[in-house]
Amino acid sequence: MEVVVADITTLEVDAVVNAANTSLLGGGGVDGAIHRAAGPELLAECRRLKGCATGDAKITKGYRLPAKWVIHTPGPVYRDGKHGEPELLAGCYRRSLELAAEHGAESIAFPCISTGVYGYPAEEAAGIAISTVREVMGRLPGDMKVVFCCFSSRDREIYEKMMKR
Ligand code: ADP
Repeated sequence: MEVVVADITTLEVDAVVNAANTSLLGGGGVDGAIHRAAGPELLAECRRLKGCATGDAKITKGYRLPAKWVIHTPGPVYRDGKHGEPELLAGCYRRSLELAAEHGAESIAFPCISTGVYGYPAEEAAGIAISTVREVMGRLPGDMKVVFCCFSSRDREIYEKMMKR
């Protein structure tokens, strides 16, 4: 596992994960950045997917991105942490890794899912991201490089702190 501060649309990995919404029809934040960088063909493919449940994931091609694949996963909107948010967020990481492995990806980059507009507290979300990736990587065949792509140095510090636990 590696932590970087970057615009996820620039990363040269096999798969980038998109913190999507359930419509899969684009939005703001990292979702908007990915759609802008990938081009209109991405939206056309997303339309055919007919949405995605929170905590699940669907895969498309990466089009104009350096990444071959985009894995779209709607994170939970944070309320108080007692409405299934931890399990749903863990599902985003687990299903994304499973889809990446099924498609033969050897590297994957995750944004800090749900921690923007969806309001998930950054430390709790990082803890779930790290523990879920560790658990799933332990049982998936093959090797996968996992990059946590932060958008701020503050988020990177949180990941570095939580990874030492
Ligand atoms: P959500 O709706 O899941 O909260 P957001 O896109 O609002 O999704 O935010 C998720 C995270 O993605 C936030 O930490 C935000 O700072 C980050 N982010 C926004 N744009 C980018 C980008 N181009 N590359 C990587 N991370 C980004």
